[in-house]
Amino acid sequence: MNWQQPIPREYTSLPTATVVERIAARKAQLGDQLVILGHHYQQDEVICFADVVGDSFQLPRDAAQQTAAEDVIFCGVHFMAESADILTADHQQVLLPDLGAGCSMADMAQLDDVQDAWVAIHNACRDQDNFKLVPITYMNSAANLKAFVGENGGAVCTSSNCEKILRWALGQKTSDASPATPDPSLKIIFFPDQHLGRNTAYAMGFPLESMVVWDYRHADGNGGLTDEQIRAATFILWKGHCSVHQLFRPEHVDQARAKYPGVKVIVHPECRWEVVQKADLSGSTDLIGKTIAAALAGSTWAVGTEVHMVNRLAKKHPDKHIMILSECQCLCTTMYRIDPPHLLWMLDNLAAGKVVNRIEVDSYTKYWARVSLQRMLDITAGIAVSEPPTPIPPKPSRNPLRVLANS
Ligand code: SF4
Repeated sequence: MNWQQPIPREYTSLPTATVVERIAARKAQLGDQLVILGHHYQQDEVICFADVVGDSFQLPRDAAQQTAAEDVIFCGVHFMAESADILTADHQQVLLPDLGAGCSMADMAQLDDVQDAWVAIHNACRDQDNFKLVPITYMNSAANLKAFVGENGGAVCTSSNCEKILRWALGQKTSDASPATPDPSLKIIFFPDQHLGRNTAYAMGFPLESMVVWDYRHADGNGGLTDEQIRAATFILWKGHCSVHQLFRPEHVDQARAKYPGVKVIVHPECRWEVVQKADLSGSTDLIGKTIAAALAGSTWAVGTEVHMVNRLAKKHPDKHIMILSECQCLCTTMYRIDPPHLLWMLDNLAAGKVVNRIEVDSYTKYWARVSLQRMLDITAGIAVSEPPTPIPPKPSRNPLRVLANS
């Protein structure tokens, strides 16, 4: 849990025009020493100050390339700032304007719960010869979960490369692992978004029956599953979700089609399976943006993703009719906590030589998180997965990542 101290009242009581003017002046003063990153879901009043706009993986990579910038202000959420700290150089520091800007999905996969599940699944499968469990985590997860995955032989994925990463994981024991020939002794545990895992595996041809959901809140300590269910599954999906994308429901697709004949429906794969099945297309924020940019003038699009991104797409492409799939408030409320007053407060502090809200990942967690991210990059590039670099940093006395080898 991160606590944000209230910022001084002078910032919240300033007229908007003054805040905007002062942010612009501070940015100019700090020059190349500073880079401001803005996620696609960020509000317009903040995104207008971003030097780079992108998704949760593009932005940390971009920050790492801008080595002249010692101060990286991440206008996103906590796990994104952690990723930036993992990927940037030692002389760069990553700051989050409001520590309360977390991600409900990332928070659903706490390391203790993950470690307990890991042990329980191994226990359930202890009689399976050469049992292997491959952990895969979505980019939208805490640094310590990425590190757990790295230390236990798995990889990170994004919504763009998830299929490639799952294919790599399925090929860990046999080169022809497929929906037709599943290997019962090989399983994938997918964190933290059940929907991305389910939608991707289904699109690869795996039936829903090959997937079970691990409910980390279930009192039985077995994710609400029997040992038989665990043993029969190929995919164990963590019971996490995005509180924004889960708001889209199948009836919203029906309503859009009834109201706008010929409408194309495009949704993010964090939406429920039932929504993705009814949509015309599903893909990452990057794919959504590119698809709409390439669409014919005059075409109509109902888009199932965060409202700020949809509104910006509509503004950017006035020749097309673009709307959000549902009229519900599909807003990332945690990211919305980052507002111009917090940004100005942070910039004023930087200009005064004071660093506030620095996000720092410890060196051991950073090492293993980098391993899981590097595996993702290698797999996506189609090259052999590199070995973890040496030397491995010493474990802290209280190791935050318990290593639990495949039995
Ligand atoms: S949109 Fe969903 S997954 Fe993305 S930061 Fe917000 S809560 Fe997390």
